[in-house]
Amino acid sequence: MGKEKGVWQLYEYDYKTGDIKLKNRKCPRCGKTMAHHSNPPRWTCGGCSYTEYIREKKQG
Ligand SMILES: [Zn+2]
Repeated sequence: MGKEKGVWQLYEYDYKTGDIKLKNRKCPRCGKTMAHHSNPPRWTCGGCSYTEYIREKKQG
């Protein structure tokens, strides 16, 4: 199962609607695909090194 993990990290499966969304977002600076990193959670652009930190949503 471990080998499959890399693929699924690129997508987000919504169990409620059954939709599969592409998790990777595009860089607001250069438009290249950004890579998701964890610890700390952030998006990093491979083109221009633009980094966007992700704020965790707290419920309640
Ligand atoms: Zn960029």
